[in-house]
Amino acid sequence: MLVINGAMGEGGGQILRSALALSLCLGRPFRISNIRATRRRPGLMPQHLVAVKAAAIIGEADVQGAAKGCSDLEFIPHTIKPDEYHFDIGTAGSTTLVLQTILPALLTASGPSQIYLQGGTHNPLAPPFDFFERAFLPLLNRMGPRIQAHLQRPGFYPVGGGIVEVSITPTPALKPLTLLERGEIVSQRAWAMLSRLPEHIAQRELNVIGNQLGLHNSNLEVRHVEAKGAGNAVTVLIESEHVTEVFGGIGERGVTAETVAAGVVTAVRRYLTAAVPVGEYLADQLLLPLALTGSGSFITLKPSRHTTTNIAVIEQFTAHRISCKELAADRWRISF
Ligand code: AMP
Repeated sequence: MLVINGAMGEGGGQILRSALALSLCLGRPFRISNIRATRRRPGLMPQHLVAVKAAAIIGEADVQGAAKGCSDLEFIPHTIKPDEYHFDIGTAGSTTLVLQTILPALLTASGPSQIYLQGGTHNPLAPPFDFFERAFLPLLNRMGPRIQAHLQRPGFYPVGGGIVEVSITPTPALKPLTLLERGEIVSQRAWAMLSRLPEHIAQRELNVIGNQLGLHNSNLEVRHVEAKGAGNAVTVLIESEHVTEVFGGIGERGVTAETVAAGVVTAVRRYLTAAVPVGEYLADQLLLPLALTGSGSFITLKPSRHTTTNIAVIEQFTAHRISCKELAADRWRISF
């Protein structure tokens, strides 16, 4: 049986999620040890447990070790079952990270699926829903399936309670994706979402973004939303001819609105300066769908540790060798 060391490289939850996703897609059992070894609280947290359980249900898998805090897991998948699924993380754990785990297998399943997830939708260190919907899904859709996501209710730390609905019409086989050019920038917009917090937070975030990125007021929007708890997220969307990228910042207690917005501005500037189509996070998340086609390539920023670690996991599961070539400063080509 394939054995994965969860402590390798970046050493986080992505190793587990990618291993589950690849195991389901390829029908390949695996064992993983040292799950999330480099994290402050290692082992399986509620969000990872839901990912494991969701993967097990969808793939009718036999699982050992699926308990809170566990560091070792064995996963033996059987048949992928398209269906209507409801998964509740029970905390503010990220719904989009659970989706990262189960979506790939459903893209080529024998019928359509509908997934309802409850938990966090705008979390630090995870894809914000807006990124998932506006940056990641359109690229997956280009590969053949038809996936639509709807945010029924946002969920923020610590209360969670967000609801995401995803419908998937599969494709017989995924088509490779090549993304080598960004093309002209078509539009740049930003919005700041607020639930149960004073409006000045969103205004201050949008002021920083508007001033520093040169966005006109008509492209800046405050969105009042009804989450179960208080929360704030700011999003910048850069739509180019060939790709749309999304940059998100999450409001946190004790961090000023200006600081949250400045972090987003730094990421956007890096992306704009490098003139690449694929940003840092999209890069590590596109690897897995591309691996399922066995070909394709994209141009991106200097690979992050999440990207290099994901490459290592994919290379263990498949025969593919993935090349990362530096073309210029902060401009790399990743090819299968
Ligand atoms: P891990 O730290 O191993 O749990 O993995 C985190 C995952 O979340 C990676 O796939 C990252 O690309 C993704 N991620 C983290 N922050 C963002 C962000 N701001 N936008 C989009 N994706 C993100």
